[in-house]
Amino acid sequence: MFPWLEDSFKQLGSRIAANKLHHALLIQGPAGLGKSSFVLQLAQLLLCKARQGHKVCGQCQSCLLNAATTHPDLHVVESDKQIGVDQIRDVIKKLVSSAHLSGAKVLIIYDAHTMTESSANALLKTLEEPTANTFLLLTTDKPERILATIKSRCEKLALPLPPLDATLAWVKTQFDGEIDINFAKLFSARPLALLAELQEEQKFTYDIFSRGLEALLQGQTNAMQLAMDWQDSADKVLKWTQYWARQQCTDDAPETVWQLHQQATKVTQQLRNPGVNKTLVLTELLDKLALVKVALT
Ligand SMILES: [Zn+2]
Repeated sequence: MFPWLEDSFKQLGSRIAANKLHHALLIQGPAGLGKSSFVLQLAQLLLCKARQGHKVCGQCQSCLLNAATTHPDLHVVESDKQIGVDQIRDVIKKLVSSAHLSGAKVLIIYDAHTMTESSANALLKTLEEPTANTFLLLTTDKPERILATIKSRCEKLALPLPPLDATLAWVKTQFDGEIDINFAKLFSARPLALLAELQEEQKFTYDIFSRGLEALLQGQTNAMQLAMDWQDSADKVLKWTQYWARQQCTDDAPETVWQLHQQATKVTQQLRNPGVNKTLVLTELLDKLALVKVALT
């Protein structure tokens, strides 16, 4: 469990042990706090047949099935965009039938605010009259978008936000590179979001860029292949290509350098268009860059 969520988890663990957990929890907190991991571990705790306090035993049939992510009484609903009414109806059918392992049944709904109005309404009856030993765990980072009828039937649990030093302390156990403190402040209460940003930054480094260019010039790859590999970092490719072009700008620079400059300006404008084909514009840019190198060598 993430250190900043440990206390909340222990409290819920005590309530499970005392048989006093509400059957429907709405777990709230910003994206990148660790809600998904929190509810999944809570579900595993509810399903474990030999709990040891707030910890799972790790050895019972339930724990083994959970480790293999194949527990038949753990149901998960999620969607990239909207949770549709069919998804909810399907899962309710499964909840109504008796538990496969004669223990608890758990339904997790990630990002519950993405339920459509009909999805939410389809869930209401189950929230009001749940089958025995059934738990519904909903997460959200936008509670204001959840229907009042759903909210009023859940116990709301706002997870605590870690202070900046706790965020940094944890991120440093996961990430080797330098961390800019002002950058970290942008994500202070969202440690997982900070880590993801830092890892994303590290994924496309200048070293990767230079090695790619070297391979391009030696004919080991082509502009289109590089453009496909680099399209997610198109802004960085453009920026570094511009810096590189600026470096080549001497009085006797070949015509191709100026052509590269022009192409870079064009690409800057093209990348502002959300529908742009990034592979295509990067291919044109890298083709021009290859011509400069050829002229210089
Ligand atoms: Zn167990």
